[in-house]
Amino acid sequence: MTRTVYVNGEYLPETEAKVSIFDRGFLMADAVYEVTSVLDGKLIDFDGHAVRLKRSLDELEMAEPCSREELLEIHRKLVDLNGIVEGLVYLQVSRGSDGDRDFVFPAAGTPPSLVLFTQSKPGLADSPAARKGAKIISIEDIRWGRRDIKTVQLLYPSMGKMMAKKAGCDDAWMIEDGYVTEGTSNNAYFVKNGKIVTRPLSNDILHGITRKAVLRLAQEAQMEVEERLFTIDEAKSADEAFTTSASAFVMPVVEIDGATLGDGTPGPIARRLREIYIDEARKTAI
Ligand code: PMP
Repeated sequence: MTRTVYVNGEYLPETEAKVSIFDRGFLMADAVYEVTSVLDGKLIDFDGHAVRLKRSLDELEMAEPCSREELLEIHRKLVDLNGIVEGLVYLQVSRGSDGDRDFVFPAAGTPPSLVLFTQSKPGLADSPAARKGAKIISIEDIRWGRRDIKTVQLLYPSMGKMMAKKAGCDDAWMIEDGYVTEGTSNNAYFVKNGKIVTRPLSNDILHGITRKAVLRLAQEAQMEVEERLFTIDEAKSADEAFTTSASAFVMPVVEIDGATLGDGTPGPIARRLREIYIDEARKTAI
């Protein structure tokens, strides 16, 4: 089926959607994005994503393409037109183009480019991957210093995922100055003696929308949470580990750098958090 996508005010078949070759998203990765999951045909944590999008745009002095209400309407219309029951909406805003390539930003008033498309992902909630758990390798974190801004500069995370695949694993956690920063496309956690440990927010990691929800839900469920720096060795000798992201929710981790965690199956805290998160996400989706 041909998807209907959104490009700068128009709903078009994906084969007819076009962006200029001079667009700064294409030439310079001068663009930010958001991924909002869909369950039961509804958007999960739309406002969290809208607020973070605004923050990313502000940090890069990029203009807002439209209001929150217009964004919500576009999301809903694409979900509807493409019949998405479980899946996601990808949104990208780039600084646009003034018709040439230049390091200097285009003149004020140059409209940003706004592109959205859907991906259908049946089995997103009842995921076989989550029942099995993920195997992780660790790699050096050589990304730039503003990982709190959700830019489309995803080459290194993409290479990290490929390094994991080549090692027969599912994903990679990145390490900087001896401490785990985050996964290639998720935030990272381990659990020891019932306590959940994750890195505190800073410019070093993306401020995950799922992280925020999961930490709140963990505290509400009387689980102990500690936000501090941690090493890969601590995670390797943990009772369990997991990651969070909008597109995979809570994903249990069962192996790190060849070391099996617990009995090699998803741990009870990760499984419980996944359940609580999906339950709450369904209830609050719009
Ligand atoms: N860190 C990185 C590097 C990511 O790419 C993502 C997913 N976009 C996350 C963390 C998780 O953020 P969220 O829960 O908002 O998807």
